[in-house]
Amino acid sequence: MTDFAPARPETNGRPAPFSEFLEKFRARLAQVFHVRTDFDKLSLRRGLPPFVLREIMACNPLSVCIPAEYGGRGGHIHESLAMLAASSYESLALSLTFGINWALFLQPVAKYGQEDVKAAIFKRFLQEQNMGGLMITEPDYGTDALNMKTAYIEHDEHFHVRGVKHWGGLTGWADYWLITARRRAEDGNLLRDIDFFICDVNSPGQEIVVEEYFENLGLYLIPYGHNRIDIEVPKTQKLQPQSSGIKMMLDVLHRSRMEFPGMGMGFLKRLLDEGLDHCKKRFVGGKSLFNYDQVQQRLARLQASFTVCSAMCAHSSKRTAIENDLAGLGVEANAIKTVLTDLMQEAAQSLLQLVGGKGYRLDHVAGRATVDSRPFQIFEGSNDVLYAQISETLLKLMRRAKQKNLFHFLQGYDLTKRAAEYFKELLNFEVNLQLPQRKLVELGRVLGRIISMELVLKLGDLGFRSDLISGSLAMLRQDIDSLLTTYAFANNTLVVEAYEENSSWLSLVS
Ligand SMILES: Cc1cc2nc3c(=O)[nH]c(=O)nc-3n(C[C@H](O)[C@H](O)[C@H](O)COP(=O)(O)OP(=O)(O)OC[C@H]3O[C@@H](n4cnc5c(N)ncnc54)[C@H](O)[C@@H]3O)c2cc1C
Repeated sequence: MTDFAPARPETNGRPAPFSEFLEKFRARLAQVFHVRTDFDKLSLRRGLPPFVLREIMACNPLSVCIPAEYGGRGGHIHESLAMLAASSYESLALSLTFGINWALFLQPVAKYGQEDVKAAIFKRFLQEQNMGGLMITEPDYGTDALNMKTAYIEHDEHFHVRGVKHWGGLTGWADYWLITARRRAEDGNLLRDIDFFICDVNSPGQEIVVEEYFENLGLYLIPYGHNRIDIEVPKTQKLQPQSSGIKMMLDVLHRSRMEFPGMGMGFLKRLLDEGLDHCKKRFVGGKSLFNYDQVQQRLARLQASFTVCSAMCAHSSKRTAIENDLAGLGVEANAIKTVLTDLMQEAAQSLLQLVGGKGYRLDHVAGRATVDSRPFQIFEGSNDVLYAQISETLLKLMRRAKQKNLFHFLQGYDLTKRAAEYFKELLNFEVNLQLPQRKLVELGRVLGRIISMELVLKLGDLGFRSDLISGSLAMLRQDIDSLLTTYAFANNTLVVEAYEENSSWLSLVS
């Protein structure tokens, strides 16, 4: 029996204070990963030994994400973000496991699930440590998810859903899935809208066949694979959109993207702590690495990323409550997701550089962090595509406002008002409102970082320590400055397809 056993270890039906829960959860993770096991060695294997998972789940971390009326801790955003951060300090994959459960299953079910099924589902999460994930992606429809081919037909008692899905995080492990599909009309065509169905794989007729498990490059803890869907789902298990299914999907995905900072937070803090520790202890050329200027530059950037992520957590805590409709907040959600995941990958690469050869091992936190953080730039919207979308949306707003000058527009735009003032000169140009895609991406990188700067300024207002705020503003200003130079450089080079003729250096020198 652990001291966590009930979801709400309470007096008079009230849960123990969150700070107490969090402290115990952190202590449990540290004990499991550092005392009872050597996580660096453990991370060479796929999955987790059952006792490790049992110990962690005994803390009932997902109770934090479940509404109080169903016996959870209330689903408060800041608490769930803090739970993710505590997890990612030890393991990014563990944090992603909880992030999937929270943002891609529990929140959508809490918001859009039918009352008839919610209580039983939350009970199984709280009492039987069930897990849930989301399947959107299909082999031929990833970025192009709206054209998915998984289809459903409505019968009197149930929906029949058929299709193929891959890369769903927790493949073969989750007890529940949200499965997206399009309605097949009587003429055989698929309608445009997307619907979500809860699949309970332990119920007859709802089993999902895993046809292949993938050898994913990183995130060894999480199984991925190829799934065949042919299930009959009771009508009560269809999510109920407030308007269209596509708007519901946007609300779910935007909320999830804005909650990425919970996973980034502990991860970046761990890399910063590891970097500081390593560089202080490692002597090269007779002096501590910590005293080399280039090393200081890398550590300062790591620290600045930690601060940017803190700003994003503080911001998302206020914005992503499930009662808010986030379908229209694409710019904000995409900026947070892209900039954060770029910073996570950069931080991992930078720590690996600082640690040197020793870091290039899967059983070293730096090597593992590099492969574990890489797919964050791909899933839930490829960063290239999301950066372009940020620009497209803002250019549309500029067109509508009949404003071509970027500075004047950003100065009046809610997410960039204060940060834009730092770039009065640099942003004082007219934007071509018909930009080629590569320029949309480059501009999106700039805009994402200006929005991030705005969030850092707001974090400063809240009283976050000022030296860290200045350090992160300096990093973002430098990045924005150099990205604007890239943006201003006209380069329309196209790839030469049949490039092998007359392109051998060897033939030129022999
Ligand atoms: C570790 C991991 C976890 C995942 N977890 C889940 C999950 O839990 N549930 C789920 O449903 N899916 C999940 N996915 C799938 C993920 O969301 C898709 O891989 C992603 O949407 C990209 O789709 P795709 O792989 O088909 O690539 P594609 O759609 O083929 O895109 C590949 C690349 O092409 C480029 N590209 C694509 N479209 C455009 C465009 N319009 N303009 C310019 N460039 C473009 C981009 O560089 C993009 O990265 C996961 C994937 C990974 C790797």
